[in-house]
Amino acid sequence: MAGYFEEMGWRELGDGEQPNHLLHFARFLIDSGLDRTGAAEWPSLPPPASKEAVQKLQDVVIENQKKGCPICLKNLEAGEKVKKMPCNHIFHPRCILTWLDKTNSCPFCRHEMPTDDENYEAYKKAKKRAEQSQNDLDALHNSMFS
Ligand SMILES: [Zn+2]
Ligand SMILES: [Zn+2]
Repeated sequence: MAGYFEEMGWRELGDGEQPNHLLHFARFLIDSGLDRTGAAEWPSLPPPASKEAVQKLQDVVIENQKKGCPICLKNLEAGEKVKKMPCNHIFHPRCILTWLDKTNSCPFCRHEMPTDDENYEAYKKAKKRAEQSQNDLDALHNSMFS
């Protein structure tokens, strides 16, 4: 078992030590100049949703009156044309278009839309990889020690 970890470049962690891949991830962020503090979080509000993704939002006509639009809190009236996000949340077109012009996630559930910002997309990929390796490691750990 120890051999396996050595082969994979892992070693057992000491108390309070963070797994290696997080260090790699932090290093990646610093190298790419995304975050000079070294913290593994995007330093500000994520960039606007990509124009293409915004154009692809579905237009839906409301059949029965629905409770408030999460942005302006006004009701969505029957017969009204609204925009549907990929997460199935609906908003007044003017509300969601203004919102997505500022940042890329659903105001209700934080589902993220693609952006036109290369740096942010690279950050998202790296973050996903880091999470994935953590999941893989957890699964490996559970399969061996439970
Ligand atoms: Zn609204
Ligand atoms: Zn949503």
